[in-house]
Amino acid sequence: MKCPFCNFEESKVADSRESMDGQAIKRRRQCLKCNQRFTTFETIDLTVQVLKRDETYEDFKQEKLFGGIMAACRHTRVSHDKVKSLAYHITADLTARQLREITTRELGAIVMKHLQEIDTVAYIRFACVYKRFKDIKEILDAIDSIKHKDGSYCLTGKNNFNSEDADYASTRE
Ligand SMILES: [Zn+2]
Repeated sequence: MKCPFCNFEESKVADSRESMDGQAIKRRRQCLKCNQRFTTFETIDLTVQVLKRDETYEDFKQEKLFGGIMAACRHTRVSHDKVKSLAYHITADLTARQLREITTRELGAIVMKHLQEIDTVAYIRFACVYKRFKDIKEILDAIDSIKHKDGSYCLTGKNNFNSEDADYASTRE
């Protein structure tokens, strides 16, 4: 881990703690050259391949997953740390399942399942990109599908989306 201030290669760990979901390790480091302190957030190195819509593969990247979820959570009550934790959690899950490859469709469905439990706005926003809705009616139908009959939103119930037209997270290349 290079120092972000002077690029020196060596640093010492000043403090380590488990964070968020209890699976990630956050480390406070101090550069051995310039003595500046910085924080590292350990992520898992995955070799899972993502099969995209155009039938090409790319390496799974937690950062890209994070970016896609973050885009859906912008201007919601979902914090940056919460999104980071979610991206890490999904990544850890894929690793635990020892998957070699996953389709963008499957990945999108996993993200949606989690977002549904976290924030309705983020969930709908992600679904809009993931499903590539063609008109406002499709969006309204999707919102309806998570609404209870009394008008309140169901945050944890199962959704009615099928898994067609998935995208790998919600950001375009
Ligand atoms: Zn330094």
